[in-house]
Amino acid sequence: MSLEKYKQKRLFTETPEPPGEVVEQTPSIFVVQEHHASHLHWDFRLAMDGVLKSWAIPKEPPTEKGIKRLAVQTEDHPLEYADFEGEIPPGHYGAGKVIIWDKGTYELLKKEPEKLVFKLEGNRLKGTYVLLRFPKAGPKNWLFFRKG
Ligand code: MN
Repeated sequence: MSLEKYKQKRLFTETPEPPGEVVEQTPSIFVVQEHHASHLHWDFRLAMDGVLKSWAIPKEPPTEKGIKRLAVQTEDHPLEYADFEGEIPPGHYGAGKVIIWDKGTYELLKKEPEKLVFKLEGNRLKGTYVLLRFPKAGPKNWLFFRKG
């Protein structure tokens, strides 16, 4: 795992976001950040393999079953990004306000190249959720939904 792409996109002398590094022990946490960028979206991040695996969800993540959301995989973020809230300055990558929308722990139930199943224990998101690769819509596209 590498944070190369994450670092390439940011100028840490000018954005309040953390530079971060890959760590050895991965805590089982997740975070959802409401990101008021040029298009409002929710960044869903799962701590895995020493980084935060990340997906951008264009609509509010579902708290109930029966709603499927597109989730576009984005670059891995450092674990400490899970605590980040603030204002990314104008002119910078992802400029706009970032607010923690939900945060908690998760239990990984299944990990396949095309499918992740996990149980979320957050304030808003509780239950068994699935991330399923959806290549028809593009190589970085996944579906995110609650299944139990
Ligand atoms: Mn974002």
